[in-house]
Amino acid sequence: MQKKRAHTANQECKDSKCPFHGSLSIRKRVFVGTVVSDKMKNSVVVRRDYHHYEKKFLRYDRRHSHIAAHNPSCIEAKRGDVVKIAECRPLSKTISFVVIEKLQED
Ligand SMILES: [Zn+2]
Repeated sequence: MQKKRAHTANQECKDSKCPFHGSLSIRKRVFVGTVVSDKMKNSVVVRRDYHHYEKKFLRYDRRHSHIAAHNPSCIEAKRGDVVKIAECRPLSKTISFVVIEKLQED
């Protein structure tokens, strides 16, 4: 008997850099962010908003960062989507994250 995988793809996925169908393994850091750019081929830029504590003023700053992440062909996140990204091995100069889940579609 074959074990079923938790992830179900809509289409066939031949992406070797896909954590579900390829050989890419993910590490412990996981973030949730919004896709701000899907112009690159197979990758997206994700904006992550976070609060930074300002000790001097005893208040929080609102800050954000942009993280480039690989976008597997079975997920295909688009601009405006809220996605979950996980750290993986460096795939290129700027990419060491991969989109693992679409939480909200635009
Ligand atoms: Zn896949």
